[in-house]
Amino acid sequence: MIRYCSRCVMPETKPDILFDEQGVCSACKHFDARVEVDWDARRRDLEQVLDRYRVADGSNHDCIVPVSGGKDSTFQTLRVLQLGLNPLCVTSATCKLTAIGRRNLDNLKQLGVDSIEYTPNPVVRRRINRLALREVGDISWPEHVGIFTAPVRLAVQLGIALIVWGENSQNEYGGPAAAAEDNVLTRRWLEEFGGLLGLRVSDLVGQEGIGSRDLIPYTYPTDAQLAAVGVTGIFLGYYLPWDGWSNQVIAQAHGFETYPHFVEGSLANYENLDNAFHGIHDYFKFIKYGFGRATDLACMAIRRGRLERADAIELVRLHDGGFPASYLGVDLDEMLDELDLSHDEFVAICDRFTNKRLFETDRHGELRKDRRGNLTKVNYDNVAQG
Ligand SMILES: [Zn+2]
Repeated sequence: MIRYCSRCVMPETKPDILFDEQGVCSACKHFDARVEVDWDARRRDLEQVLDRYRVADGSNHDCIVPVSGGKDSTFQTLRVLQLGLNPLCVTSATCKLTAIGRRNLDNLKQLGVDSIEYTPNPVVRRRINRLALREVGDISWPEHVGIFTAPVRLAVQLGIALIVWGENSQNEYGGPAAAAEDNVLTRRWLEEFGGLLGLRVSDLVGQEGIGSRDLIPYTYPTDAQLAAVGVTGIFLGYYLPWDGWSNQVIAQAHGFETYPHFVEGSLANYENLDNAFHGIHDYFKFIKYGFGRATDLACMAIRRGRLERADAIELVRLHDGGFPASYLGVDLDEMLDELDLSHDEFVAICDRFTNKRLFETDRHGELRKDRRGNLTKVNYDNVAQG
């Protein structure tokens, strides 16, 4: 039996989430705590921080803004420009950039910024995709490492001390309180919560013909290198109210393009549009922990009073965690072909990472699947299924 938050629809199987005596999850409680926040004071704090890092003589960029081209990074760039900064936007390339992702990245540049697109060797990237899928069940592992590493490496190399990140994902999604209060992204934060899943970059050396020379884009600077430039990072979401929904409204008003309908496995058409592998990533979250992107979005909507819990349960059941036969219209088998994985091998990897306590099995203990390969959870709310 899976226990869900009594207010939103998050299951207790989510890593790092805590439930109180009333059965309310830590993400809901973090959200409630936002009402107490003095946003005007935070805004003044932000301006003070930024004033320390502004390059008065204009000889260098004031900050690095890590951007994917998504709604949040479009919003982030707009805010940074409004605050009068001259940013260098840095993109760490996604694993399989989609056509709409390309257009949105180009749109972001048109907001009027200098930018760098950093693209790690795609041949090595595919090997790491496959290896990480097999070893830790996360095809997107190299992308997540790259997102947190490339901007920091460039900050060191270009002598730009300030990195302006978007949201602290632990705050919205409910991690340990100490991590959620952080407004700087330290190396320790990255190691604990940056999605490395216990697989370290150094563990890759010697596998699939990968050497340390192939791992430069994934290697975090040393503490000495960071200290030499005084690199620091802040989360904009700590200083300014942060809401993915309103971010996309603002982004769209500045040319950001949405998908014509809900993205597969989601309840939105405005996010995770830049990487075709994203559907596989989210599916593995679902089979490991029993929730996917539809659950995340439903929870955020409930907290903001935009969706009733009873409707959320129904929508999650309809859209969460389907077998990822396609994503943004890109066929699964096309993606597997690039990774040199057969469909059967992929299904075997899925089965190996599926938590059988969360899904219905037959009397032989085999996972029950419909003809499309979809699983059924043992329960979708805090009541036993009929
Ligand atoms: Zn909750």
